[in-house]
Amino acid sequence: MTQRDLILLALDDSQSLRLMERALQAVDYEVAIAHDSKGLEKILDESSPALLLIAEHFSSKNGIEIAETARERFPTLPILLFAEKDTTGTIKAVLKAGLSGYLYPPLHTDDIVDAVHRSLARARHLGDWIRREVKRTTSSLEKRAEISESERDKLEAIIANIEDGVVVLDQENKILFINRIARETFDLPVDSIGKPILNVIHNPDIQAFLLHSMESSVKYHELTFDDGRVFNAQQTAIPHIGTAISLHDITYFKKMEQIRNEFVNTVSHDLRSPLTSVLGYAELMSRVGTLNEEQQEFVRRIEASVQSITILINDLLDLGRLQAGYDTGRESIQLESILQYSLDMLGSLITQKNLYLEKNIASNLPALRANPIRIRQMLDNLIGNAIKYTPKDGTIRISIRAEDRQLIFEISDTGPGIPLNEQFRIFEKFYRASNVLDGPKGSGLGLAIVKSIVENHQGRVWVESTLGKGATFIVVLPV
Ligand code: ADP
Repeated sequence: MTQRDLILLALDDSQSLRLMERALQAVDYEVAIAHDSKGLEKILDESSPALLLIAEHFSSKNGIEIAETARERFPTLPILLFAEKDTTGTIKAVLKAGLSGYLYPPLHTDDIVDAVHRSLARARHLGDWIRREVKRTTSSLEKRAEISESERDKLEAIIANIEDGVVVLDQENKILFINRIARETFDLPVDSIGKPILNVIHNPDIQAFLLHSMESSVKYHELTFDDGRVFNAQQTAIPHIGTAISLHDITYFKKMEQIRNEFVNTVSHDLRSPLTSVLGYAELMSRVGTLNEEQQEFVRRIEASVQSITILINDLLDLGRLQAGYDTGRESIQLESILQYSLDMLGSLITQKNLYLEKNIASNLPALRANPIRIRQMLDNLIGNAIKYTPKDGTIRISIRAEDRQLIFEISDTGPGIPLNEQFRIFEKFYRASNVLDGPKGSGLGLAIVKSIVENHQGRVWVESTLGKGATFIVVLPV
């Protein structure tokens, strides 16, 4: 309804004002007149005019500035400027202020009506376009929302049918959701939704886990049931909702682990006991009669060989255990204290070879959660290698420092070093680098054990070396 639109005129009292008023009323526009900027604001706020026509100089103020402010507050309001003259300056100012157009004297009724008509038509088109876009965007959002609804159904169906048990608890530990597997595992009635979990589950192992996980940040726990089933329970906090507990049946893996354990124990026992008797009889030889020198030498060789086979078997069994993941028993340890034990034991070898030992241990090192026996073994192997491969009068440097929640252990020596193209292979089982084959004896298992230990502790180990110039082994362990 173009004819009833309200046109707001902001002009000082003048012939032009009266001409505009008459011309617009003649084509049935409603006209409001503002006499100063206060009046202008009041009409803009209260009457929502369809168009503002403002003079370049209005109530001794700059009309363009007032128009700009009005446009910021009412971005869709079309504004026409009544300029004093038609100059390029005026056009620029109108464009810059984002106004709809301008009029200038001498005024003609047709020009006034025409300019208002055109500005309103353009504003209407713009309004229609905005409304269409809003509708389009809203319906596309609605469609997307519909899909993500249907996706929730899908998700629920998946969770309900996966082979792991899932229980979701609210912040008061009442059951919000439980899938079939979890319900069957805990032998719960169908109507357990909404009940506090501790009231419906009575297995002491699970009660302990639930109580513990509520009080602290315990995340994993093995749950054993009377019928022999074993589950790995994992707890995850869900912000604003509560907690999700997932249960994974690990009965089969536990059985396998047990079988493997028994096998390793049997094999180690079966291999070690004949060796012990070989060693025992070798020792008895000299007691049952006098041995000549050659015989004594043979006995010494038997003993040395049995000892090295025993070390080899122990290393192999260790590696088997480590690689099968039997490296548990984490406790809080200080790496520097374990290093000291290791050095105490290997000290005599260092002295024998007249090696110079340089230690650089940072103070206030954080504790590690680690298996102290394995960490000791790792240090013994690395330090043992440095001693073994470094010629007499050489130097061994050991350092420990902390960096970014990691402990960094470095050991370097002045030994033969490792050829570049073999450096990545020395951590493999039985691999010995070509430059040491004529040198000290070894089985090639020590570094494979080191690597397994470090990786079981979520760390990394690598070597840096220039052939003939020594080697540096670096171990990084997370704190
Ligand atoms: P080994 O019983 O042969 O010492 P390791 O697994 O401990 O077995 O080491 C594998 C190989 O890595 C060694 O045979 C040797 O070639 C190389 N290596 C280990 N430590 C050093 C070292 N400190 N200096 C030079 N070579 C080394």
